[in-house]
Amino acid sequence: MKIIKYLLILPVFCVSLFGQAEIKDPLFTEVWGPVPAVVTPGEGSNPPSDAFVLFDGKDLSLWIGDNDKEPAWDINNGVLTVKPGTGGIRTRQAFGDCQLHIEWKTPAKVKGEGQGRGNSGIFFMGQYEIQILDNYNNRTYSNGQAGSVYKDHAPLVNACKAPDEWQSYDIVFTAPKFDEDGTLLKEARFTVFHSGILIHNNVKVMGMTAFIGLHSYTPHLDRLPLGLQDHGNLVSFRNIWIREL
Ligand code: MG
Repeated sequence: MKIIKYLLILPVFCVSLFGQAEIKDPLFTEVWGPVPAVVTPGEGSNPPSDAFVLFDGKDLSLWIGDNDKEPAWDINNGVLTVKPGTGGIRTRQAFGDCQLHIEWKTPAKVKGEGQGRGNSGIFFMGQYEIQILDNYNNRTYSNGQAGSVYKDHAPLVNACKAPDEWQSYDIVFTAPKFDEDGTLLKEARFTVFHSGILIHNNVKVMGMTAFIGLHSYTPHLDRLPLGLQDHGNLVSFRNIWIREL
């Protein structure tokens, strides 16, 4: 078996020995498998054909309240709005590496300032928050403003639209990896587009989101539910879909 292995490697080795100029046949660098699956893009921000739709404007059947009760958030004309004081909601299904599309807007009636204005958030695996906040003419600490990996990374730019205007996040999340002993092998990572503008380019997450103190990792499962935060403000959502990676 070993001899066969070396015979297979030999032609490649000869080519690299004499440099790329020796490769005359374009077929040598063509890779034909595996064949990428066909996915049909959605019109505008509609979900692509292989997306799992988490909220389509009708109901919250795929969600549960943080208190393990039915979510009490309001749905009106296809729009989901936080019901302050009822707690966050999370998906019934668990996710690891994923691509998430979510559209959100902060209340037309501007109330509060800093972290108290239009605050919500998306908690990947229930632990790592991408901040939602009204930062249109509203200053707060940079690593806590809209689009931040909360208290971990400030967004590259402030792409916030005005209150009551729909904006989107398109987020690529790579889950952290732990070995069987719970030792961290690889940190989580985020790439985020805010209404089409890159605000995080594959940044390394320092650990679980915490309001106070430095972030660190606690070992957890490969897949966990995705959460939306009730921070006491009337933030609205629509068109939420996810693609597992
Ligand atoms: Mg928040």
